[in-house]
Amino acid sequence: MKILIIGSGGREHAIAWKLAQSPRAPVLYCAPGNAGSEHLARCVPIPAHDIGKLKAFVASEGIDLTVVGPEAPLAQGIVDEFRKEKLKIVGPTRGAARIEASKAFAKELMTRHKIPTAAARTFDSAAPALAYLETQDVPIVVKADGLAQGKGVVVATTRKDAEEAVRSMLEQHAFGEAGSRVVIEQFLDGVEVTCMAFADGKSLVPMVAAQDHKRVGDGDTGPNTGGMGALAPTPVLTSSLRTTIARTVFHPILEGLSRVGSPFQGVLYAGLMIAGGQPYVLEFNARLGDPETQVVLPLLKTDLVEVLEAVVEHRLDQLEIEWHDRAAVCVVMTSPGYPGPYASGEPIEGLPEEHGGEVVVFHAGTRREGSRVLTAGGRVLGVTGIGPTLGIARDRAYRTVQSIHFAGRHFRSDIASRAIQSQTPAR
Ligand code: AMP
Repeated sequence: MKILIIGSGGREHAIAWKLAQSPRAPVLYCAPGNAGSEHLARCVPIPAHDIGKLKAFVASEGIDLTVVGPEAPLAQGIVDEFRKEKLKIVGPTRGAARIEASKAFAKELMTRHKIPTAAARTFDSAAPALAYLETQDVPIVVKADGLAQGKGVVVATTRKDAEEAVRSMLEQHAFGEAGSRVVIEQFLDGVEVTCMAFADGKSLVPMVAAQDHKRVGDGDTGPNTGGMGALAPTPVLTSSLRTTIARTVFHPILEGLSRVGSPFQGVLYAGLMIAGGQPYVLEFNARLGDPETQVVLPLLKTDLVEVLEAVVEHRLDQLEIEWHDRAAVCVVMTSPGYPGPYASGEPIEGLPEEHGGEVVVFHAGTRREGSRVLTAGGRVLGVTGIGPTLGIARDRAYRTVQSIHFAGRHFRSDIASRAIQSQTPAR
């Protein structure tokens, strides 16, 4: 069996790593992949957005199944294109991917199906948006409607900041077409969690829930990033909250998408705020999250090939998906300067071999040059520790992080700390 994974980050390396463990021993390909996925897969230099070339490669190489990592090709309609040629692919159609590609569409669907989320209004010109802001309290959240590489959300603590965000999106077109509509929504105060579910259009199976760390600095300080680390399972979600999320979020959104003629197949990602003990949706994504994938897939016991085939063939309800009763913590190592402009091309020293399933180093922004591995992105590596508890998983991750060096390396030193403290009974 031949499987192609599209994308080049830590998420895609984690998908390849998990697929490589399948008893079906699939032959793996990555497009384009990185210096980590190279060990598991044949890397082909086709960018994730080049749908025509990807389709031609899949046809000529006789690939049996394609897995899409990032959101951009999904929003471009890669799944629709592959299906026209009867090529098997895991991911939502362009119509279903609107749940991520348009925050206004997602909001409308949530409102229609009474899915708990922050109250919001959508605007496509600045004057009414600014007038609306006059009537609102701060903090308030301004979001570009479309895909803006994780940069289109401004949590404004003053009205002036909110107005500037509106002007930059609707008047100065800071995010181009993606910011030609904005959603202004009520600020929610609480704890953020990530719940993802495999979905086959008709039924879905939630995964273990995770928590990301978005800010660049310790103690949740500094600018937002693509994610500085993650943990799973999160102690924030009790089993009753997980049931509530399935009932009030996942099932209604799956049903809602089917009703608008876009049944969702792939991975449905819900970014949730738990406020006052209740879950509220901050955003939906149409694919696996990164870095969350780097802690969730190591805990999956069932063969991922089986799961993905069940997704494509609408048979998730016939598969029992099992998880290891363990914990995982991922610490992301970044280039200096990230998430601003950063240096790259630095040699990475001290990369360990995988040992005993306790630590896995997932590559994000790396490339090989001869025998050396060089930095080639903002997020460089995701070091995942796995263990019987979050505390042990974290210690394993950090021990390995300390042994990996590249010029100006940065990482947060408090990944999972809060979650671990919340589990420790007070004396
Ligand atoms: P999003 O891409 O919509 O998830 O937003 C990115 C980040 O902005 C989230 O991870 C939250 O930290 C924050 N955020 C988004 N919406 C809200 C909200 N309504 N209230 C508070 N924080 C929010």
